[in-house]
Amino acid sequence: MSHTDPDVGRRAPTVPMAEVLRSQARLRALVESDAVFVWTTDADGRVDDMPGWRRLTGQTRDEVRGDGWLAAIHPDDRPATLLAWDTARQRRGTYRTEYRLRLADGTYRWYQARGVPLPGTDGAIYEWAGTLHDVHARRQVEAERDALVQGLERQRAEAEAHLLAASELAAQLQGQAAEAEHQMAEMQAMAEELEATNQQLAAAHAAAEAALEDEARLVETLHRIGVSLTSETELSRIVQAATDEATTLTGAQFGAFFYNVLNDAGESYMLYTLSGVPREAFEGFPMPRNTAVFSPTFHGEGVVRSGDILKDPRYGHTAPYHGMPRGHLPVRSYLAVPVVGHTGEVLGGLFFGHAEPDMFTERAERLAVGIAGWASVSIENARLHDAERRARAAAERAAERGQRLLEVAGRMARALSPAQVAEVAVEHGMRAIGADAGAMALLDPAGAEFTMMGTRGYPEPSASRFYRFPVTLGAPMSDAVLHKRPVLVRDTAEWRERFPRTADAAAETGYEGYATVPIVADGRALGALGFSFRAGQTFDPGVDVFLETLAGHCASALERARLYEAERDARDEAEQANRAKSQFLASMSHELRTPLNAIGGYVELIELGLRGPTTPQQMTDLDRIKRAQQHLLGLINDVLNFARLEAGKIAFNLADVPLSEVLDEVEALIEPQAADRGILYGRGEGGAGVRVRADREKLEQVLLNLLSNAVKFTGPGGQVRMDSAQVGGQVRIRVRDTGCGIPPEKLDAVFEPFVQVDPDLTRTRQGTGLGLAISRELARAMGGDLTVESTLDEGSTFTVHLPAADPGAEAAPA
Ligand code: ADP
Repeated sequence: MSHTDPDVGRRAPTVPMAEVLRSQARLRALVESDAVFVWTTDADGRVDDMPGWRRLTGQTRDEVRGDGWLAAIHPDDRPATLLAWDTARQRRGTYRTEYRLRLADGTYRWYQARGVPLPGTDGAIYEWAGTLHDVHARRQVEAERDALVQGLERQRAEAEAHLLAASELAAQLQGQAAEAEHQMAEMQAMAEELEATNQQLAAAHAAAEAALEDEARLVETLHRIGVSLTSETELSRIVQAATDEATTLTGAQFGAFFYNVLNDAGESYMLYTLSGVPREAFEGFPMPRNTAVFSPTFHGEGVVRSGDILKDPRYGHTAPYHGMPRGHLPVRSYLAVPVVGHTGEVLGGLFFGHAEPDMFTERAERLAVGIAGWASVSIENARLHDAERRARAAAERAAERGQRLLEVAGRMARALSPAQVAEVAVEHGMRAIGADAGAMALLDPAGAEFTMMGTRGYPEPSASRFYRFPVTLGAPMSDAVLHKRPVLVRDTAEWRERFPRTADAAAETGYEGYATVPIVADGRALGALGFSFRAGQTFDPGVDVFLETLAGHCASALERARLYEAERDARDEAEQANRAKSQFLASMSHELRTPLNAIGGYVELIELGLRGPTTPQQMTDLDRIKRAQQHLLGLINDVLNFARLEAGKIAFNLADVPLSEVLDEVEALIEPQAADRGILYGRGEGGAGVRVRADREKLEQVLLNLLSNAVKFTGPGGQVRMDSAQVGGQVRIRVRDTGCGIPPEKLDAVFEPFVQVDPDLTRTRQGTGLGLAISRELARAMGGDLTVESTLDEGSTFTVHLPAADPGAEAAPA
């Protein structure tokens, strides 16, 4: 910037000094020049004529006369001229003025008028005379000079002002310059700063963009991992995938995921998965414990990221290792992220290690946290899935076990011995709970010793070793019967812990899991069921209930088997006795018949007079002997018949028999007896044309027995009727009387051998009490039956049921 103002130069005085001098000289010459003309007036100053005036102005004489000449003066100069003239006249002094006069050609020119009053000798003025001088040139010069002076003055003032302004400006400029310089410097600095800021901004922008891009990539990566993790429902695969991804993305040398899982019984335990190192690298170490380093992770408190864990204040405080156990992979850079479920439950923790310090960036941490988040969602998903699967499996198992129990109940109902009960219980129990071996042991009555009733799947010599063992041996079964509740043993380790005395023997079987349940009846342990599993077990809660129910079925089945066996023994005994009785009766009757027949034969010999003449008295005695003999013989024949019948020694000759023929036959025998006793006998029409499948003789024997009973137990004036009918494939023959009847409580007993309702009464009417027993046996042996209905004092009705003859066989030749 310049320090000089161009305006100052322009305004500086420019009138040359030579011109000024020239103008003054000209003025002097002009003043000394001659007048243009001389003028005169009257005493009062009135003009009569001014020829010189007229020549100059072109006014006429008339126009000049009086004050007319004034008209030729420039209007601007007229007042001054008039004033000067009037003043001169009043004062009678000199008159002097200058004015511009309009010349004849119309132009104006400066003139000086001078006048003096010319006094007469009396002192009175008689005329005025004066001159008119051309002062135009002077006036011009003067004007020029004035203009010049004015211009100079103005210029000077201007210059002064300019100078002042300039100096002010200069000062100002000086200040401004300094200011400007300062500003320049500032601006420079600012520019530099701006430049730097720009660069920073550009860098920041680039960084922001890079960060954004990075963020997008991170989000994208996490999203990809999230999608792959959440699509997985298998827990082990989720944790492995999460560990692998996180280990790769964080740049860790190795990563581990320690996570809590629930077993079927709902208990929590810890598993882990590794990435970047083989499993052996960690196998020798215990699970991470709640040390100061691990605690924030396992309590879900937050991320632990350490550039050098060895220098971390939390490191190395906990016994026994005070840091990493010997042989642990070297870890300097350490990153641990808790995996927390949506309720705040800590599902596990992701751990990353690197042998070099400061390997894990903030970005690595964010990635790990992101993956931990997805892992949490996925694990919870998997848990839900698992819970659902478990619930479904449990429901299915329960249903299957229910089904199995139904089957067991059915099969056990048919089990007639403890061995059969054992077989059913072991087989179904094994299938229901998926066991690989099973056994049922019973306690001796003293409750001191087990004996195996049935075993399955146990190898020798284990099976033999445990064939019989004392309750005091200290096996799970002992515990079960002593405490009367199921005992579940997960694996051989637990067995060793709880039942150390039998642990070796148990291990020898080669099985891991074991479940046993006591068989309890009326509060008393009868024995126990035991099941073995090849694999370690977690036992779902339904197992207990199932085993107890199964054992309950066993208890009732054993009880039933016991009763059955007792009853069978009793029956065997009774049958044995019965057989002996029948044997005895058969032989006895046979032995009795021979002498009785002999008695009969000799009586006949005497009666026929072959031994000489007999007296009437003797004849009467003989008749009594004979009747007694026949009665005894009949009795013995009955007994013999019954004994043979019971022993199954009677042959039946079944044929299609015309019923009416049979009825005619027995009627012929019974009618005289009825008539003798004053009883009215009648027969219905129903049996015509009916054929019955029977042994004719035996049927006649049955009917004869029923008819003779009816006559025997009906008093004179009573009635006996025989009816028959075919109903479907059945033929019914009914013998009805109006006799004494049978009391209701004896209705069943009359069919038992040797039973007589009223022995006294019967004695008078004779009988053995075998008739009905034999008759029913016969009817049953022919595929029919014999039944009774009776009302005491009103009468009885006995009905023989027999199959009708086969209608197809009817046409066939007999
Ligand atoms: P028994 O007639 O030889 O005594 P049964 O076996 O024929 O032997 O009859 C058994 C018992 O049944 C008879 O003693 C009698 O008490 C009773 N009983 C049988 N038939 C009749 C009947 N029709 N009315 C009343 N009681 C009868």
